[in-house]
Amino acid sequence: MSIEARKRIAELRELINKYDYEYYVLAQPSVDDFTYDRLMKELEGLETELGDFAPDSPTQRVSGVPTKNFPTVAHENPMLSLANSYSAEDIHDFDRRVRQGLNKSQVDYIVELKIDGLAISMIYGNGRLLRAVTRGDGEKGDDVTTNVKTIRSIPLSIVKAEEIPGKFEIRGEIYMPHSSFVRINREREEQGEPLFANPRNAAAGTLKMQDARIVAHRQLSIFCYAFISSDTSAGTHSENLSFIQNSGLPVNAEWQKCTDLSQILAYIQKWESKRSELPYDIDGVVIKVNAVQDQIQLGMTAKSPRWAIAYKFKAEQAETQVKEIIWQVGRTGIVTPVAGLEPVFLAGSTVSRATLHNPDEIRRKDIRRSDFVFIEKGGDIIPKVVAVNFEKRSPESQPEQFPENCPSCQSDLIRLEDEVALRCINPACPAQLLRRIGHFVSRDAFDIAGLGPAIIETFNQLGLISSIPDIFRLQENQIAEIEGFGEKSAAKLIESIQKKKVQPLDRFIYSLGIPFIGISAARQLAGEIGTLQRIMNLTTSELEALEGFGEQMAGSVVRFFADAVNQKLIKELLDCGIEISGLEKPTGGVFPGKTFVITGTLPTLSRQEATELIQRHGGKVSGSVSARTDYLLAGENAGSKLGRAKQLGIKIMDETELLARVKNG
Ligand code: NAD
Repeated sequence: MSIEARKRIAELRELINKYDYEYYVLAQPSVDDFTYDRLMKELEGLETELGDFAPDSPTQRVSGVPTKNFPTVAHENPMLSLANSYSAEDIHDFDRRVRQGLNKSQVDYIVELKIDGLAISMIYGNGRLLRAVTRGDGEKGDDVTTNVKTIRSIPLSIVKAEEIPGKFEIRGEIYMPHSSFVRINREREEQGEPLFANPRNAAAGTLKMQDARIVAHRQLSIFCYAFISSDTSAGTHSENLSFIQNSGLPVNAEWQKCTDLSQILAYIQKWESKRSELPYDIDGVVIKVNAVQDQIQLGMTAKSPRWAIAYKFKAEQAETQVKEIIWQVGRTGIVTPVAGLEPVFLAGSTVSRATLHNPDEIRRKDIRRSDFVFIEKGGDIIPKVVAVNFEKRSPESQPEQFPENCPSCQSDLIRLEDEVALRCINPACPAQLLRRIGHFVSRDAFDIAGLGPAIIETFNQLGLISSIPDIFRLQENQIAEIEGFGEKSAAKLIESIQKKKVQPLDRFIYSLGIPFIGISAARQLAGEIGTLQRIMNLTTSELEALEGFGEQMAGSVVRFFADAVNQKLIKELLDCGIEISGLEKPTGGVFPGKTFVITGTLPTLSRQEATELIQRHGGKVSGSVSARTDYLLAGENAGSKLGRAKQLGIKIMDETELLARVKNG
């Protein structure tokens, strides 16, 4: 028994370490939390049985590690995890242990939603945000201050600072709201990038990015739930929550005081059934002892406080049958498998489709037509198939055959090196064309109301639209004849098309659907380069000099404009009377038309904030120093750009001067 138990302990430790790495470092877990927690419980059980408490066992430490991408900083106060529970009985035991530990018959608790994101510690000094650090291994984490500063709801300096001189710490959970998650995954899908599995992974991945501009674009949010200062030994957790809120930091409004177990259980029940109504993910409820003195008295284990516990919800799953596997052709030719499901109700809506991502995913999970599968939602969005219920598999079932030809145009599908996806590379593929037209008229592009996917398809079938420029060749009388349209709606559609013939350069560039060029990259190209002709003539190295443009984006732009088909498309659009209005040329402001380059870490502003400030005052920000640069905005640890700017005799400005110039107009 003991030999077997020891073997199992070793096996479990190895497995959990692997899962920790996938979850905390890669942000790509391969098992669900419930399975993970079950294995952890099994390990804890065996270790207790054998009295084997190796200090490096995953049961003995807060999981997670700082990454190499950011400076590692030691926490002022250790950042612990929370003990987990899954049943009313566990909560019962917790309450009993707390009352025994305090020798009280009744204890006040605060219950809060357990936001499914990642913990952050923020240190404020004399009211100003000094730094923000991830939990890491609990002792030290990643200094991600620049990225955290992009979160709009975090004040860089707080009101009422005079009430708490010196340093204090605020802790919270950074998360990605469903709206941002859906938008980002849509953009990633359009650009052929792998999708994030859920908002937590998306938030974790985002916070560890090197480019704060992309972080800002992704729109993370935060809820704060702890306040620690040298004199917080008195008072209560609820007073701390009110203090955080009054200081201008967001606190989740759903917290509640409970004076007994039945109130706690009612709160859990309420949120377990209402969680799908929230615009963000929660994975449970946290129960905390309210009086800070009581918390101190109860203390903590190596891993978690004894005065708090998390009640974790099981992931909402439903079982249903796969009716068909559909292969959909996207705008850039990527062919994505989608499961057509027997409709089933899950987390607030009826689900009849689930994404299967790519052929590898189908093979890995061995998903087949007619299989019964468990599905889950990752944040009120496109559901995914978690696993197959193999017990119900029909003996006749066969593995899915992957298509060799495009389901739309029948041309051979290929698999590019380093890509998991299948691709149709026929530029004339009708399915791709429809998706490209859909993209062209979409909200961030030409924004033409009334041209939805069904109408585009009808017009295409009737031969009215076979290319993007055809949109502008539509005739009112042709449309009025179509069933479902009348003269009035035909006139309205033509009017809405005509109205959109003048577009700013950034929308025009975005509408072309250049792979890897999303709306922010299009804005950057328009803002920094200025004219369509110049953008079309950029070389790879000129593009790579733009901040945030890597090899992939630069290569994609060059390839796109070198392609005769795309050159013809642009020419035809201009021939149809499309006008590019150009970005408003800055004439006013403190820095009209001046070009800035930013280097080093600025004392208070993030790169994003400095960029916006400069842009608001008429200037623009470029990624590299050249003779055309007017100012170098330099902070601490400025790199080679400073040397180059000095060589070229460019004026160097620091943050103080920038702020003063802006202030004095
Ligand atoms: P946890 O997520 O169970 O709980 C602690 C965390 O809750 C805190 O660090 C904080 O970030 C968060 N939190 C959210 N709202 C809060 C609130 N109102 N008050 C206090 N804290 C709040 O613990 P953890 O250590 O972050 O992660 C461990 C869990 O992660 C495991 O139990 C498991 O479910 C999951 N996990 C899964 C895998 C996997 O492969 N699927 C791997 C590792 C960990």
